[in-house]
Amino acid sequence: MAEQKRILSGIRPTGPLHLGNLYGALKNWVKLQDEYQCFYFIADWHALTTEYENTSVIKPATRDIIMDWLAAGLDPEKSVLFVQSEIKEHAELSLLLGMLVTVSRLERVPSYKDFQQATGRELSNFGFLGYPVLQSADIMMYRAHGVPVGEDQVPHIELTREIARRFNGLYGEIFPEPAPLLTHVPRVPGTDGRKMSKSYNNAVYLSDATEVIEKKLKTMVTDPARARRSDPGDPEKCPVFDFHKIYSDQETIKWVVQGCTTAGIGCLDCKGRFIPRVIAELEPIRKMRLYFEEHPSEVDEIIGEGNRKARAFAQETMRMVREAMKI
Ligand code: SF4
Repeated sequence: MAEQKRILSGIRPTGPLHLGNLYGALKNWVKLQDEYQCFYFIADWHALTTEYENTSVIKPATRDIIMDWLAAGLDPEKSVLFVQSEIKEHAELSLLLGMLVTVSRLERVPSYKDFQQATGRELSNFGFLGYPVLQSADIMMYRAHGVPVGEDQVPHIELTREIARRFNGLYGEIFPEPAPLLTHVPRVPGTDGRKMSKSYNNAVYLSDATEVIEKKLKTMVTDPARARRSDPGDPEKCPVFDFHKIYSDQETIKWVVQGCTTAGIGCLDCKGRFIPRVIAELEPIRKMRLYFEEHPSEVDEIIGEGNRKARAFAQETMRMVREAMKI
């Protein structure tokens, strides 16, 4: 039987997961479990590259995210769910791969400059510059064939492919060249209309209670042209419409366009059509999450078992790497 293809993906633990994460990654990850051998990890060392002064968020966020994962349908029987820092081999492989890439190549990775420009933070630490090398080590450790990523991460996968080629050329074929697995991701705006993000304080969390979700979405910004109920609006300029595109059927979408552009409906009527659908989607996730909150030892066991499986795979890869490199 042909070997099942492997994929790997991870997330930085900076807080619990929100709707943007659900649509941006998690739903896709759940689907991929049936097609691939999946390794999903909490990238806590990656969180350190930017959060090194504020490390106290990392451990609680790690647990929060794993509970969100389980509640949203990641199945520890199908996928290996693990914590990066528990698998020390990632650090070893990262060090070795660091020999195969130049500093100027790392300075050209777009996210290096983009992050600094976007946040205004002067991040000149070595860890931040080297973070795509650690990411390559994460991927190559599981000899992954594919990496489900967003558009912005594609340059990192390209770098990983370069490093894998260089390694294979110098020491022998060990690593597949991983391909980016791009999926169409709908836009999920936050309550202020910007991209949903924990750092903008505009997110609807998977763990939010029903009343909280309702309140957040009811007060969400709309097309600024509709200052008064009698002003017509343009759904394409309204973040609420992005939610309709995800949650509503064609008939409702037509109703929104017609009602909005003629001022025939108010924004609260409009929101009233999708908010119950968000609540209905998140309700079973939240219930499942509550179950895991109440059964912490079950969560510990799942994390421990995931770490054990990941470590066994990583140890085998490092055995192959050391043998190939004659060290
Ligand atoms: S009616 Fe709906 S689409 Fe139009 S501005 Fe209000 S919330 Fe947005």
